[in-house]
Amino acid sequence: MKVLVIGGGGREHALVWKLKQSPRVEKIWCAPGNGGIEADAECLPADPADVPALVALAERLSPDLTLVGPELPLVNAIGDAFRSRGWPIVAPSQQAAQLEDSKIFAKQFLQRQGIPTAQMYGVYDTAQVAVSALSGLNWPVVIKADGLCAGKGVFVAQDAASAEDFIRRVMDQNELGPGGKRLLLEETLEGEELSFIIVTDGQRYAPLVPTRDHKRIFDGNRGPNTGGMGAYSTDELLSPTLRQKILDSIVEPTLRGLTAEGIHYQGFLYVGLMLTASGPKVLEFNCRLGDPETQAIVARMDFDLAQVLADFAAGTLEPSRLKWKQGASVCVVIASEGYPGKYAVGRKIDGLTDVKRINGVEVFHAGTQRQGDSIIATGGRVLGVTAAGASIDSALSLAYEAVAKIRFDGMQYRKDIGAKAGRVRAVGD
Ligand code: AMP
Repeated sequence: MKVLVIGGGGREHALVWKLKQSPRVEKIWCAPGNGGIEADAECLPADPADVPALVALAERLSPDLTLVGPELPLVNAIGDAFRSRGWPIVAPSQQAAQLEDSKIFAKQFLQRQGIPTAQMYGVYDTAQVAVSALSGLNWPVVIKADGLCAGKGVFVAQDAASAEDFIRRVMDQNELGPGGKRLLLEETLEGEELSFIIVTDGQRYAPLVPTRDHKRIFDGNRGPNTGGMGAYSTDELLSPTLRQKILDSIVEPTLRGLTAEGIHYQGFLYVGLMLTASGPKVLEFNCRLGDPETQAIVARMDFDLAQVLADFAAGTLEPSRLKWKQGASVCVVIASEGYPGKYAVGRKIDGLTDVKRINGVEVFHAGTQRQGDSIIATGGRVLGVTAAGASIDSALSLAYEAVAKIRFDGMQYRKDIGAKAGRVRAVGD
């Protein structure tokens, strides 16, 4: 098999690393890839948002399978473009990608299908009307810009003044661009969050192992949101009862609802959940794998990913093939100084060779470039140090042993990834 992977972050490095282990895979291209992926795949320059250019690239390469990491190509209809040419691809259609592209579409879908989610107070297309709707609501209130906003579109407002400030910045000053043209207000849910990802060929589906990510920049969940500072996976995140409840009350109604509405969903579907006192509720959908969750997930895969995805693309996904390693895995993200604000770039990373000697640890690259023999930090999130172990504690100690060997000026990482492992509060447990 020749496989083309689209994207250039830690998620894509983790996928490339896993695909490379398959005896069926003879060639992997990654577009655009990064300084670490280069060691495992042929990296080709590409703009993941530019679907016509990606079509031209695939025309030239003729991959047996294309796997898409980020959301932009999906929203720009890469799934439709490839499938209409008969090219195998793991990517939902543009219509299906609305589940991520529009929070209003996703919320209205959840409501139509009677799937548990936070109560929506209303949808607004002017700041004036949104601000006047604030009176009489229970605080805190969650405000969500409708479109893709690079992780900046959700604000949990503690009071009317901060809510109004956010609404005006998004709608009057267009701080988030076109994604902020409309917004919704909704109830704030309380509980622990959980990432529940499935892969579906439109008929059958298979859940991946559950994960929890850490979005805030600082220990103790303080500071601004990021693209993810780490994640972990252990089966103890979910009791069998709760897992079944998520499948029965959320995953299956979602898939049935999509089919009933004429949406053929083929790809990964990420369900962001809040485990509330009255059961699991949907916070959001993503139409792709999450990062850093994917890094923790691949570390537990005990199956041939290329084989599973080839079956998927042929429309014959075989859920029983997805076998998982017992125990746990963890991914600790190392970020640049200043991230998630304006961050420093160009700093040389040391210690990567020492880490290679630690068994059970993989360092996936996100924002890096190779310059001669050196690896340079070029992004906000730079590396995902990923480890698997028999327990969450052993996975954590391996990952942090590796993190301690890596050095670059101003690097920052969280020291409490996985610290809450195993603590699940949800009815039905
Ligand atoms: P989303 O992109 O919709 O997942 O929102 C990003 C983050 O905002 C989530 O991971 C939650 O931490 C938080 N969030 C979103 N919606 C709610 C809600 N209704 N109640 C509480 N927190 C929320």
